[in-house]
Amino acid sequence: MDTGFRERLIAEGILFQTGVDGVWGRSGVFERIHDGIEQAITRAGLDQQAEVMRFPPAMAQAVFEKSGYMKNFPQLAGTVHCFCGDERAHRTLLGQIERGEDWLQDQQPADLVLTPAACYPVYPIVAKRGVLADDGHVVDVASYCFRHEPSLEPTRFQMFRMREYVRIGTAEQVIAFRETWMERGQAFVAALELPFELEVANDPFFGRGGKLMAEAQRAQALKFELLIPVNDGLEATACLSFNYHMTYFADTWGIKTADGEQAQTACVGFGMERLVLALMRHHGFDIAAWPAGVRDTLELG
Ligand code: ATP
Ligand code: ZN
Repeated sequence: MDTGFRERLIAEGILFQTGVDGVWGRSGVFERIHDGIEQAITRAGLDQQAEVMRFPPAMAQAVFEKSGYMKNFPQLAGTVHCFCGDERAHRTLLGQIERGEDWLQDQQPADLVLTPAACYPVYPIVAKRGVLADDGHVVDVASYCFRHEPSLEPTRFQMFRMREYVRIGTAEQVIAFRETWMERGQAFVAALELPFELEVANDPFFGRGGKLMAEAQRAQALKFELLIPVNDGLEATACLSFNYHMTYFADTWGIKTADGEQAQTACVGFGMERLVLALMRHHGFDIAAWPAGVRDTLELG
């Protein structure tokens, strides 16, 4: 793989290596661009009157289990474990570390799982409130997400920030939402003066059964991705996703519309780090030299 872009990001001090592939530290310039994108997404969604929800990067194990993530993506999940022993166990632990032995086997589950997608914690919260209002609901959610997919590609993080708008309502409301955001997502990226294409996509379902799931997802066009060329000599990178879950999450959590029908859900997800890297790839590392229109869109001054 040609890693020229990655090497330049490191050499310019934009990304800091942590010793683990896909887990990066980020510079002030990177974060300025990130914050500009965040605010631009907020402006693009102002009319949605979305309820804002922000979550930490871990979620309840019980919610995670019920979401069915392990059925579809066991290879990507990360669980949290802790030391719960007494002083004797502590001495054993320190001895194991000193001798370079496996000390993790005695760690206990902490009832926490790293959040794999920003929208997962939203559904049980909305479900708990009971039947939806006539116009359903829109949530503006963001979270750090974890996916165990170590890679040398600078666009494939193991821990990254995802911002989403989530629509919960009738089939008509949810389908209209996804149409709107497919348009808006393209306008958003066009305003950033980035080249892109929109394509039907699938999630990385696990195993042989997963192949069928992926084919069905594509055949029904349940997922679209907006792709931007970012990496050297590789396929374009998915920077936005437009997901139609039909009744999957509403069935799981028991969400009903005002008419008592099963609700449906959809979400648009923005990959924040990928958007920052796409901007740097196409406009360079020096924000001051970026096109005026892009600087305006991101209010970079
Ligand atoms: P669903 O709700 O159906 O699970 P989602 O929208 O919550 O899907 P994805 O579509 O898988 O989740 O991801 C959303 C966005 O997150 C992607 O478009 C991409 O920009 C970003 N993303 C996904 N994986 C990574 C990664 N490994 N590193 C950086 N960004 C990523
Ligand atoms: Zn989502």
